[in-house]
Amino acid sequence: MDHLEADVVVVGSGMGGGTTAWALAQHGVDVLLVERGERIPREPANWSPAEVFLQRRYRPEETWEDGRGRPFRPGVHYVVGGNTKVYGASLPRFRVSDFDEVPHLDGVSPAWPFRYADLEPYYGEAERLYAVHGSTGEDPTEPWRSTPYPYAALPHEPYVAELAERLRAAGVHPSSTSIGVDLRPGGSCLRCATCDGFPCRVGAKSDAEVRAVDPAIAAGARLATGVRVTRLLTDGSGRRVTHAVGEGPNGPVTIHGRRFVVSAGAANSAALLLASAGPEHPDGLANSSGRLGASFMMHNNAHVAAVDLFGHNDVVFQKTLAVTDWYEDGGDGHPLGSLQTVGKVQGVMMKSWATRVPLPVLDAVARRSVEWLVMAEDLPDPANRVTLTAAGGIRTTRVARGTRQHRLLHRRAKRLLREAGYDVVATQWFDISMNSHMCGTVVAGLDPRASVLDGHCKAHDLTNLWVVDAGFFPSSAAMNPALTIAAQALRVVAESDLAG
Ligand SMILES: Cc1cc2nc3c(=O)[nH]c(=O)nc-3n(C[C@H](O)[C@H](O)[C@H](O)COP(=O)(O)OP(=O)(O)OC[C@H]3O[C@@H](n4cnc5c(N)ncnc54)[C@H](O)[C@@H]3O)c2cc1C
Repeated sequence: MDHLEADVVVVGSGMGGGTTAWALAQHGVDVLLVERGERIPREPANWSPAEVFLQRRYRPEETWEDGRGRPFRPGVHYVVGGNTKVYGASLPRFRVSDFDEVPHLDGVSPAWPFRYADLEPYYGEAERLYAVHGSTGEDPTEPWRSTPYPYAALPHEPYVAELAERLRAAGVHPSSTSIGVDLRPGGSCLRCATCDGFPCRVGAKSDAEVRAVDPAIAAGARLATGVRVTRLLTDGSGRRVTHAVGEGPNGPVTIHGRRFVVSAGAANSAALLLASAGPEHPDGLANSSGRLGASFMMHNNAHVAAVDLFGHNDVVFQKTLAVTDWYEDGGDGHPLGSLQTVGKVQGVMMKSWATRVPLPVLDAVARRSVEWLVMAEDLPDPANRVTLTAAGGIRTTRVARGTRQHRLLHRRAKRLLREAGYDVVATQWFDISMNSHMCGTVVAGLDPRASVLDGHCKAHDLTNLWVVDAGFFPSSAAMNPALTIAAQALRVVAESDLAG
């Protein structure tokens, strides 16, 4: 049996865990990152659409079950850096209203246990850590900021610049995407076509491995890879975690620490705490509220491809444009969501779902299309939850909430793109297996009877357990989640007693 020990043990090295470890290491804390996966090697396959999208080279073989017991392969990545290794590095701040209670068409988006102003300084710090490029004064819903973007927004390529003009003529206010790539003068980013959805072969994407885990190690943190934590155990009071157990490359592992941070990603963090049930907490660790696993969210998302039959899209780096005009008010006082271009889709990438369409046809479509993500808030519902299967696997039960506003946003997007000159708009609605924006399940709140964590992500029920990943989100907002996870990790380390 292998034994590991540290002052602070962090389970999971993705956005939440990697950033937490980085911040702890800056404070000189003895921190151990425990990661079930290994590092993705820098190899030609990093940038192969066929390897990444068709062969799913970097996805685990694992299956989860949906609410009806049907198996699916989740959109997760068990590697150092977690899902950020393949993310699109779109790193916007949430809007001020996202932290408040907001009525939506299909229900209410609840208030967070802290306000935008509480997180604002840490957003700035996270933008510096993740080298975010962005601009102010374009986005009609941008939140106020006390520090400038570290780097200027990525310039649009000519095709996207012209598209922005056409959208402006159609009456909206296109803005630059806030994005984390090393494209500063002398930076290592090549501005290639294989960023969003792919690992970066040259380490120029601001993922958690490059920007947080490796700098944390340089500052003294340790990383144990290939160790899957399976249970947290407590003392007799049930109020203090004493150690974790797991499976490592050489068999069983025990990990002792004074404080524990679970950052395994929304579904896995909930699953780990549920699997840690014991005599003092028969329904799962930190679950006196009964809310552990509940309010599983993943955004209501769709990809749309707008095809200009007589045009030619020669863009390389497409993910530079966003439209947020209807984010807080779609015209009747209710929020709708956000639109953003995604990385340029290649024909072979469409093959993963358009399986029967010949590749040359898909290539021809891709040359004429521009692709967008249409994102609306997924409202929290206690019935949507992560539970364990009889075999100890993950079951995600979810009936999407907030679908009316998503359909309205989708209709607006289609109309807008038609007005901008596109002939055909095709849609791929995301299903449960496309759960890349998972959040909720270990929700933070002021009331211990209705939430698992306090406003600084510490478990209400325990003295030395924090959960710092997308699981703490009380609502999903309709913006990409990663910067908010990172900012909260920095806030937790700075303001709670995690650093000792
Ligand atoms: C294709 C794709 C594109 C995306 N694009 C964007 C984007 O542009 N902008 C954005 O904001 N977000 C994006 N996201 C989402 C973003 O990556 C996630 O929101 C973010 O990584 C979540 O952070 P996390 O800390 O909750 O989990 P993760 O980053 O997934 O980290 C969880 C870590 O815990 C490890 N782990 C799990 N269980 C255990 C265990 N039992 N023991 C030990 N280790 C464990 C995992 O291996 C993983 O490393 C994208 C995601 C995908 C998949």
